[in-house]
Amino acid sequence: MSGVKFRVAICGGGIGGLCLAVALSRHPNIKVEVYEAAARFKEIGAGVMIWSRTWEILAHLGLDSNFAEIAHAIPDGSDGVGFDYRKSDQPMEGHRFYLFHRPYGCIRFHRAHFLDVFVDALPDGVAHFGKRLLSYTQNNLHGPLELQFSDNTTARCDILVGCDGIKSIVRKQMLEEKAAKTGQGELLHHIDPVWTGTVIYRGLIPVDRLNNRDGLEHRTAETPMMYCGKSKHVVSYSISRRSIVNVVACTSHPELEGTVACDEPWVVECTQKELLDCYDGWEPEVVDMLKCIEKPTRWVIHHLRPLPTYVSNKVALLGDAAHAMSPHQGAGAGQAIEDAFILAHLLGHQATSLATLPQALLAYEHVRLPLGNHVLRGSYESGVMYEFNGPQTDELQVLGPAIGRQWNWLNETTPVGEAERAVRWLVESLQAAVVEER
Ligand SMILES: Cc1cc2nc3c(=O)[nH]c(=O)nc-3n(C[C@H](O)[C@H](O)[C@H](O)COP(=O)(O)OP(=O)(O)OC[C@H]3O[C@@H](n4cnc5c(N)ncnc54)[C@H](O)[C@@H]3O)c2cc1C
Repeated sequence: MSGVKFRVAICGGGIGGLCLAVALSRHPNIKVEVYEAAARFKEIGAGVMIWSRTWEILAHLGLDSNFAEIAHAIPDGSDGVGFDYRKSDQPMEGHRFYLFHRPYGCIRFHRAHFLDVFVDALPDGVAHFGKRLLSYTQNNLHGPLELQFSDNTTARCDILVGCDGIKSIVRKQMLEEKAAKTGQGELLHHIDPVWTGTVIYRGLIPVDRLNNRDGLEHRTAETPMMYCGKSKHVVSYSISRRSIVNVVACTSHPELEGTVACDEPWVVECTQKELLDCYDGWEPEVVDMLKCIEKPTRWVIHHLRPLPTYVSNKVALLGDAAHAMSPHQGAGAGQAIEDAFILAHLLGHQATSLATLPQALLAYEHVRLPLGNHVLRGSYESGVMYEFNGPQTDELQVLGPAIGRQWNWLNETTPVGEAERAVRWLVESLQAAVVEER
């Protein structure tokens, strides 16, 4: 332990937890442990896309060439299509109503490959499997935390980061304790995720299969597509050097947002007929594509009511534990990576010591909570707009630019700029505390 300034326990080894562990492992004076409930690191689902601001972080971590090897194509910064928005809920051929493009376009991956890059970058001895966190205790505000796991073991740390996903146990305990301590009962409304009103069907299609149907290349082999219609939309894009197409077909009941969906598991297998019936009467380009998905899975999509806080003393929430969101801006993983980057930057800074950890976490919250919650709300609103249920309804000439404005957050700041802002806030708050003490 000599030379170690504090010990960080990361609960959960998904994209967020692993990115944090890798970023922290660059600071030799911080001891990092990852406690993962499962027997190994794994991702479910198929594709994942990121935007240029996440790429900036991966480059900062020195992992850009590793991620470039597994991307849909080598990212070179040139302008690319983010999404090609098309009206598709009619039997005749649809038409584009908006083209969203930006530097790098959207950078796409197979999820399993994406996680593996972080796993490979993790130093030996950091990961502990079969460690499902049940609770944590802190008897003294300035002392260490004790973690209790379901295998009857315990561990100690100086700071706990809950990276344990949408059903986070860390979020539950943190908000319950805060509510009891402050009398803010409304905090309890943010513990359980709520249904977005949307159900999605997912599937993967080998590109050869898709293209061979009429001898022509399907549009989505090259271009990330957003096929839009009333209360439904279909997203598709190629991954794995354009050899596979990832399809996400959404169907919504916006009036049910905020309710509890049903007792059935969030992810189940379903029949191809159910999927095809849902998009009956859509343009041939969509129906032909969906016919290639033999075994779709059906997902009930939940999100969080935006949290009023991400931290409490020496406990912090990160990724889906803090801001689980609907997938309509392809941003949940990117936002988890951004949390990890900024938290690691703060913890590694010389101003952060065992004594100043709570202030460092407040600096993290100061910078991350507004954007995390903004993207959470914006992702939901965007999905509503793609399905002609927003204020613009299906007035496509106004809808297209309005959808474009939903993406402004991608350009308004940069992760490096945000990390510097967080450190400035920390240093200034520590200086203000010294002045107050005098
Ligand atoms: C259909 C769909 C498509 C999406 N597409 C995109 C996209 O294109 N781009 C994008 O950026 N985002 C996308 N997202 C969102 C993205 O998948 C998530 O935001 C991201 O994976 C969250 O990562 P995480 O590490 O915070 O949580 P998770 O990936 O949920 O990881 C949590 C980890 O914690 C572990 N764990 C849970 N409880 C405990 C416990 N008590 N003790 C110990 N370990 C525990 C779990 O086993 C798991 O390994 C999509 C989401 C969906 C549903």
